Amino acid sequence: MSDCIFCKIVNDEIPAKKLYKDEHVIAFLDIAPITKGHTLVIPKVHQESISAVPAEYQQKMMHVSSQIGKAFVRTGEYDGFNLHLNNGQCAGQVVPHAHMHVVPRIGTDGFHWNWRNLSYEENEADEIIAKFNEKFSI
Ligand SMILES: [Zn+2]
Repeated sequence: MSDCIFCKIVNDEIPAKKLYKDEHVIAFLDIAPITKGHTLVIPKVHQESISAVPAEYQQKMMHVSSQIGKAFVRTGEYDGFNLHLNNGQCAGQVVPHAHMHVVPRIGTDGFHWNWRNLSYEENEADEIIAKFNEKFSI
């Protein structure tokens, strides 16, 4: 897509600090990182939703993301990493080209997810699963 900033990175039309590329994906440093080393792994095909990205590209995104996280840990500078994908504006997706975040972590980096622990009312979980099963296909 011609006006997509990530497609422009794929096509070398704008610069990025690249860590990896192959026939399916490219990985580069996020310009506004959560932690230093925060990397984006994107498919070389333009799709806004990860669910529309062909399976072989999705598989490569996950594999490359986990290996990038492992490499950061191997540097000795980090203790672990997060893999994070926002799908849809309501979920925090800002750039409308599917992308995985690799966030290298150390215990003292000061970043915390706003994670909460809700609970289900009686039958609520079963109703969610029933609705899901009506629509799920793979
Ligand atoms: Zn794009």
